[in-house]
Amino acid sequence: MAKLYDTIIIGGGPAGATASFYLSRAERSCAIMTNKKSNLDLAEKIDNYYGFENGITGNELYQQGLRQASNLGVDVKECEVVEIIKNKDNFEVRTNIGTFNSKTIVLATGKKKKKPNIKNLEKFEGKGVSYCAVCDGYFFKSKSVAVVGSGPLAVHELKYLSPIVKDIYLFTNGKDIPDGVDGIKSDTRPIIELRGNRVLDEIVFASGETKKMGGLFIAEGSASSIDFANALGIVLQDGDIVINDKCETNVEGVYACGDITGGIYQVSKAVYQGMTVGLELIKYLRKVTGVKR
Ligand SMILES: Cc1cc2nc3c(=O)[nH]c(=O)nc-3n(C[C@H](O)[C@H](O)[C@H](O)COP(=O)(O)OP(=O)(O)OC[C@H]3O[C@@H](n4cnc5c(N)ncnc54)[C@H](O)[C@@H]3O)c2cc1C
Repeated sequence: MAKLYDTIIIGGGPAGATASFYLSRAERSCAIMTNKKSNLDLAEKIDNYYGFENGITGNELYQQGLRQASNLGVDVKECEVVEIIKNKDNFEVRTNIGTFNSKTIVLATGKKKKKPNIKNLEKFEGKGVSYCAVCDGYFFKSKSVAVVGSGPLAVHELKYLSPIVKDIYLFTNGKDIPDGVDGIKSDTRPIIELRGNRVLDEIVFASGETKKMGGLFIAEGSASSIDFANALGIVLQDGDIVINDKCETNVEGVYACGDITGGIYQVSKAVYQGMTVGLELIKYLRKVTGVKR
């Protein structure tokens, strides 16, 4: 039978890694899922975090955090999480390397959402443009829709939407067509503009050609905590996950920490919330499993 982790943490930046340190030291089984694209990688030098007298590059701090987790017995899995499903007794975390199960979830994906550079994209958000097939696919039941993207997230969204919608296309927006999309009408031409009266009606390619389209699911880059939160019914405010002082979301067993909770975007804050999640989860797991550790 597949392993049931006490906790799966989505994200191995300072927030997720810190949560894992506390859990693994309390002998709770724990995995970190990371696609190794932390915001820290963009930081040339961090010199306002405790203990590095000459500063440290963001990348080195990030790598050290993941090694520290591994050394403490955390399963660090390099993969792309594409969906989280809540069942009665567990959570299923679907990734490009397989599905993993856990009793609890920590959302710690940082705050990066890749939006393609397409004119009027934001104008049609909620009016034909969506970022989450699981959340919005149902509303496009009788329409022709397209997924924009070329990675595991795009393939996942295509598979989810195919049986629901009238007609489906993949637009890779200038990138190569990925594996696993046999039988799907695919097009590599870059998209430059969206048009419509009140709602999305057609897309415009860089060549000037147009195509009628009832819906566009943007799936470039990685799924973020916001996508997972939407699908799980987690309350958001202004694009941030709403948590209480224990870093709990409104969905039992799902915690969030780091940049994704809004406020101050700093390593110290991410580490503080990661610690809070770790300590609170130890208490929660004790309560629900009855196992005192
Ligand atoms: C240019 C720049 C400079 C900065 N300089 C400083 C500074 O000097 N001092 C400071 O304190 N802070 C600085 N920051 C902010 C700091 O980097 C962030 O506050 C911090 O990294 C947030 O940590 P986090 O764990 O919430 O998210 P992140 O560090 O962004 O980590 C997110 C994790 O989620 C994973 N992930 C995301 N989506 C998926 C998915 N679908 N599947 C699998 N894994 C996924 C990523 O792989 C990564 O492991 C800077 C940020 C930037 C961009």
